[in-house]
This record gives sequence, C-alpha cells and structure tokens, in this order.
Amino acid sequence: MSNRDYSVRQILEMEACTNCQVCADVCPAVSASHDGELSGVFRIKGLKQILKSRTGLFRRLFGKKGPTEEQWKHYSDTVFRCTLCGNCQEICPVGIHLKDLWLSLRQDLVHSKSYPKKIEMIRDNLEESRNVFAEDNEERADWVEDMRDAPEHGYLKDKAEIVYFTGCVASYFPLAQKIPMALAEILDVSGVDFTLMGEDEWCCGFPMLGAGLKDMFQEFMDHNLEAVSEKRAREVVFACPSCYQMWREYYPHKYQITHATQFLIKLIQDKKVPLQELPLKVTYHDPCDLGRGARVFDEPRQVIRSIPGVEFVELPQNREDCQCCGGGGNLEMIDANLSAEIAKRKIEEVLSTGAEAVVTSCQQCVRTMMTYVRRNKVPLDVLDITQLIHRALKH
Ligand code: SF4
Ligand code: SF4
Repeated sequence: MSNRDYSVRQILEMEACTNCQVCADVCPAVSASHDGELSGVFRIKGLKQILKSRTGLFRRLFGKKGPTEEQWKHYSDTVFRCTLCGNCQEICPVGIHLKDLWLSLRQDLVHSKSYPKKIEMIRDNLEESRNVFAEDNEERADWVEDMRDAPEHGYLKDKAEIVYFTGCVASYFPLAQKIPMALAEILDVSGVDFTLMGEDEWCCGFPMLGAGLKDMFQEFMDHNLEAVSEKRAREVVFACPSCYQMWREYYPHKYQITHATQFLIKLIQDKKVPLQELPLKVTYHDPCDLGRGARVFDEPRQVIRSIPGVEFVELPQNREDCQCCGGGGNLEMIDANLSAEIAKRKIEEVLSTGAEAVVTSCQQCVRTMMTYVRRNKVPLDVLDITQLIHRALKH
C-alpha cells in the first residue's frame, strides 16, 4: 500500500480538480448504471482521501486512519467498473490525464491487495499461457487453417518486411477471427510481404495495464520486441487499437508502428486493393483507443468512402465524442451486465442512423457489439473495417 504508484504530476493534477462533475455527465458507466460512484469525480475524491490518510504527517496531526478493508473493497469495485474509454479525460476542462490516473489507481489497488477476484485469473492466464484467455499459445495462428486459399507457409515466414501482430482477441475468438482472415487476404491480394508471429506472439501487455498488473509487462514487451527482430521486419501492423496503443506508447520505437486503417488507406490510394461495388449503408464507431487514444479519426472514414456503392452516415456522437461500446478496460470480465448495458445504448444509437451495418476498427468492439446484436436478435450487421473491405474485394 503506497502512494508511489502515482507520479508527482498525477498528484498535482488531482489537486486541480474543480469538482465540476462534467466527467460524470459523459461517463458511459454512470449512464448505464445510474451510479454516480462510478464517475471520475467520485473516484478522485476517494483517491485524495486515501493518499492523505497514508502520509505519516497527516496521520500524526489529524489522527486519520486509512480506509477499512470494507471501504477499500467498495471503492475498488467502483474503480474496476470503468471501460477506460477516456471520455472523462477528453472533456475534463482542467486537462487532468484521467485515463493514466485510472491505470495507476488500478495498480495501486493490486499492490494494496484490494481487487476483484477476476484479476487473479487474468494474471494466472498470462503467466501460464502468454495470452489473456488461457489458450494454448502454440495455436495463435490456427485461424489460418480455416481460410479458403491460405498459402502453404500459412503466413508464417522466417522473415518479412511487415509483421502483422494479431492480438489475443482476434487470435482466439471465432467471432473475431474473421478479422485476421480478412486482413491477411487483403494484404496477400495487394502483394504485401508480411508474416504472422504465431506462437512467438505474446500478449501486447494491454490487459496487464488495465488489470493493474504493470509489473508483469516488461517480460512480455522484451519477448515481443525480440520476436519481431527475428523476422527482420521494418514495420508492425495492428488491427487491434489496444495492441497498437501499447506499441506506440509503451514499447521503444524500434519499428514503424501502423494501425491497419492507416496501412489500408495507403494500399487503396496506391490502387493495390481491387475493389468492386458494395451497396450498403453503414455508420462508423470510433474505437476508444484508436479515436480518442491515438487520434486516428480520418483514415477509417477515408477507407469507407473509398469503397464504391457504400453509403456512409455518421453516428450522432462521433470522433472524439464517440461513446464506448462497453468492451474496454476488462469490464466484460469484471461486470458483464454493465458491459452489455453500455453496448445496448451503443446499438440504439447505431439504429437511430438507419444504417444496415456498423463498421469499426477493433476486434473487441466487434465482439461486444456482435454479442449484443446476436443475443437480442437485432437486425444489424457488425463489421470490422477489414471485413468491409473484404466484402468488396474483387477475387
Ligand atoms: S474512462 Fe470512461 S468509463 Fe471510465 S470513468 Fe472515464 S468516462 Fe467513465
Ligand atoms: S471533469 Fe475534471 S475537473 Fe471536473 S470534476 Fe471531473 S476530474 Fe474534476
């Protein structure tokens, strides 16, 4: 239990909170649960008290005690019921880096041994299997076997110019495996020299940060860097915005780091992707880590607009205002009902546009929205942008 999980900047920023509460107004977890204790402003107030109660001087002067175990548990529950969507950070008029703060707070709660039981499962899965789902890591690229015309090498080459870092969700979830299948085929048709890493790919580290397990991260990062280096690649491409964010913000910049939407728009503009008419009305959901997180707003829209026949309509809340799908921050593992309630609101917003399909650029958004749509028999297509291109691909 210590205040060392926070930087000086974070401690100063907390003091600057004006209690304006606009972070609560835009929080999808608050709207979906009607529980103000899930808001940023409540979390900061609690955290300030906790930090003060831990300092010796404050305790000596005022006789303050730290929180009881029960208070810790209650507070901890509210902290982990958050999608890490960054909406609060985007709106905060003081400019507090709230998303970073929530990550530090989760780490503090893990160090303080006050965290949801599911966190232990995440840690054990990562330690034992090198992926967050306790799947056999040797089976990471098994989805290639389900492709129609996969080449003999199965996209596993000894060396290539580009490494396609697939990510845990797309590697293992049948719903999401359609994304790497689509992207691999598009890259192949476009003549890109790329390889997968197969069993040599380990979790990017994002679930660790979200679970407050940053202490585990270094080993995974070192391994992934070494595995890419063995392929002698110059660029790493990601369809997953969270993997992309990790490599962009936490890994040393040894390679060019590109999200699939940025890579694909260049290929399309260079006329390397043969596209045919696709009559479909679509809207676009900005994934939190790609939109607010990486400010990649234009490329996905350019990709959609470049497909002949596709009619594009914006969501009422788009770009930096886009509302989370409910799938971020490990929320699905911690509180599946809250995650589904946030997804419900997202789908209602999508339906208000009259679109036949919602397109996004994230395997986790696809999984969350698709799960809701299927369970509730909503007549709506949910597609990753790679799948949209794949549908329009001339074979
Ligand atoms: S990151 Fe998103 S879910 Fe979490 S507190 Fe901020 S607005 Fe709410
Ligand atoms: S928006 Fe920023 S300043 Fe306002 S209450 Fe939330 S954290 Fe504090």
